[in-house]
Amino acid sequence: MPELPEVETVRRELEPWLTGRTIRTASRVLAPAGPKYANLERAAGQRILGVERRGKFLLLPLSKGDELVLHLGMTGILSPEKPSIHLRVELALSGPAPKTLYFKDARRFGRCLVVRAGDYASLPTLQALGPEPFDPAFTDAVFVASLARARGPIKPLLLSQRVVAGLGNIYVDEALFDVGIHPRSLANGITPDQAARLRRAAIAILERAIEHRGTTISDYRTVNGNVGGYGAELRVYANDGNPCPTCSTTIEKIVLGQRGTHFCPRCQPVPRKRRARR
Ligand SMILES: [Zn+2]
Repeated sequence: MPELPEVETVRRELEPWLTGRTIRTASRVLAPAGPKYANLERAAGQRILGVERRGKFLLLPLSKGDELVLHLGMTGILSPEKPSIHLRVELALSGPAPKTLYFKDARRFGRCLVVRAGDYASLPTLQALGPEPFDPAFTDAVFVASLARARGPIKPLLLSQRVVAGLGNIYVDEALFDVGIHPRSLANGITPDQAARLRRAAIAILERAIEHRGTTISDYRTVNGNVGGYGAELRVYANDGNPCPTCSTTIEKIVLGQRGTHFCPRCQPVPRKRRARR
């Protein structure tokens, strides 16, 4: 599923193409009317002022006070090439070719809607989004305080987007491995020193993944049709059964919060204080 590095890669490729162009028509194709595609037609006749990102959301401010909000969900792809199946949205643009942006989404978790700029009442995840990992306001102290207040294990908390925006299953597993924290560890039992190392590890991993244009496990493609190159850098994610790159113990996979979770049982020891096994 596209996470921050993949969405940022898409943003960087869309920005020079879309900025300043007027949306001539915005059409749902194989997409249901309803909240995921709300008010889409309202984008017609508005100029795209920029291509921004918050967490895993793409935000395109428009010239008449609206904002086009795009989320790639699990399998969303934005492209100037018309897909043969699963086409959800078509935006016809002013200016030179390519003149159409297509939104393809096989599994229908994506969304593409128009809101008044900054009004995310219909998008609770976006409204409650925590700080951007690269924002200077996301300090060790802020992260330590968020973990101290939290309940439950660290991995689902990081996936929730409330403590920090943009992390998903791949990069959470990688960051927890980097600092030797078991994914089931209670967030409020993580020491300030561990939290500080985890914050820095997450930022460094996201930066490296952006340099590689993200990770392609299956569907993800950049706007230009490329696959992400970070897959070869993964140390635990999708590496279950392989030896740990640090200690050679076999990487394990468990299900935590309904998500496949990869870790090294030796480098990431089971937390001492824990609730009953699930
Ligand atoms: Zn290990």
